Amino acid sequence: MPYSLAAFVASTFVFISAPSDTNKHDVRAAATAIATCDAPTLALPGSIELEQGLQPIVKWMLEHSPRFREQCRTLAAASRLRATVTVSHRQSAVTFRARTALRQTEAGGLNAQIEIRSASDITELLGHEFEHLIEQLDGVDLSAMARGGQARRLTDGAFETERAIAAGQQVAGEVIDNAPDRVRKAGASMWRIIRRAIAK
Ligand SMILES: [Zn+2]
Repeated sequence: MPYSLAAFVASTFVFISAPSDTNKHDVRAAATAIATCDAPTLALPGSIELEQGLQPIVKWMLEHSPRFREQCRTLAAASRLRATVTVSHRQSAVTFRARTALRQTEAGGLNAQIEIRSASDITELLGHEFEHLIEQLDGVDLSAMARGGQARRLTDGAFETERAIAAGQQVAGEVIDNAPDRVRKAGASMWRIIRRAIAK
């Protein structure tokens, strides 16, 4: 998928390193959370709060993208992560298609607010922003990545990484490749519904 510079920016907004997620927690609860990513449930864990209306699209993504399921399992296993996903369609001068604001809590948790601004690209953008969360859980050093050429610093100070770009493209590609035509058409109508809902 070609990117113009303006359209390309699905940027990560604020980066604060998350502590490694090594605290002991209820292993059975974690296993249950992880299992929701797979059939038959095909849902994100309770730690990730989706805007109303996104559930069917996420289910569809989990059904058809192995990479997205893998991301879901990784995020589900992170006991101290809380995230929200919203879609907005407000017209403004903002050029980003999606962004994630990250905040480290005093208790050592990681809170993430993911904002999708281009609903029609939601499969790519969710895969992209989820990978930014996983980067934080992995404790990647974004400045070092930038020095090594695998990330770059945007003018607003946010980082963009090859890893997140590749993940988003993989998720979107898998959904396109694996979803039957009738499901893709259903997905297109879901996007219309979402657009209408958020245009109100
Ligand atoms: Zn990004």
